[in-house]
Amino acid sequence: MRRVILLAIMVALGAGILPAAAQQRTFLAIATGGTAGVYFPLGAALAEMWSGRVPNVQATAQTSGASVANIRLLQRGDVAIAFVQNDITYYAFHGTEMFMDRIANKPQPAATLRGMAMLYPETIQVVTLRSKNINSIADLRGKRIAVGAPGSGTEVNARQILRAFELGYYNTRPDFLNFAEAADQLKDGVVDGAFITAGFPTAAVQDIASGRDLKILPIPRDVVEQLRETYPYYTHVTIPANTYRGQIEPVETTAVMAMLVTRQDVEEHLIYALTAALWDNVDRLRVAHARGRDVTALTARRGMPITMHAGALRYYRERGIK
Ligand code: GLU
Repeated sequence: MRRVILLAIMVALGAGILPAAAQQRTFLAIATGGTAGVYFPLGAALAEMWSGRVPNVQATAQTSGASVANIRLLQRGDVAIAFVQNDITYYAFHGTEMFMDRIANKPQPAATLRGMAMLYPETIQVVTLRSKNINSIADLRGKRIAVGAPGSGTEVNARQILRAFELGYYNTRPDFLNFAEAADQLKDGVVDGAFITAGFPTAAVQDIASGRDLKILPIPRDVVEQLRETYPYYTHVTIPANTYRGQIEPVETTAVMAMLVTRQDVEEHLIYALTAALWDNVDRLRVAHARGRDVTALTARRGMPITMHAGALRYYRERGIK
């Protein structure tokens, strides 16, 4: 009997879920990002809401290196649910880009990943200081740039976008910093620019704007079009004027989408219950961050890049959401 229980716990642990005993609480880990981003406050609100509204569920939000790291956490069974960029989810599911098996040089698909909901746009914000006299991404040649935390989706976007300007880690000086570190080092003049892929307003960018005159570098329309030929998840977006203190002009740039990802082996009824609770209490996300306003059940399936989890799909079908 003891061994059976132990085995059950080990199996559950390997899924990022831990039932303490039959009919007792299910512990659910949610992977987010750094504290100065948007995944973390939204994840914390989700965890609190799920713990309060789904019987026997105890959810917690974990900080992490964000998208790519979160895919690995899901694959390893360390978490059951994660916030991930749609482009990164797609690469992981098909085993392309950073998920290629480099030695065998062939795709290594994470085929057990499952979609739960599309959330809100995450805007690529390339931030510098007015005093640096940097007016275009091309001017970042030779400069020190915060390109995102190791294992972040931000870092992947930074590489792809720099390449569109004929830049890369060979002719710039990349620093792998999370958003809070990037904000501090930009304010202190240590780095010259920072890539931030997150819903706006992002806490880290607000932090820079509160102490310094910031500038957000544009990614012009034709560059976004060119990027889309290889990476179709980039969309056109404009950051409205005055999103940040001292940002008096709107800025043209690009965005991807945030989504919630789970795994095929996470129980159907659990994902169904979590999906139902999410949409019944979505106003909680709106309180946690402005981008929570973009999170709606009606758009939850729009642009889903991978197979949907059966429990989520059942919920959307019952509600007639296509
Ligand atoms: N999208 C970012 C990334 O994966 C994280 C955004 C956030 O923390 O809000 O790198």
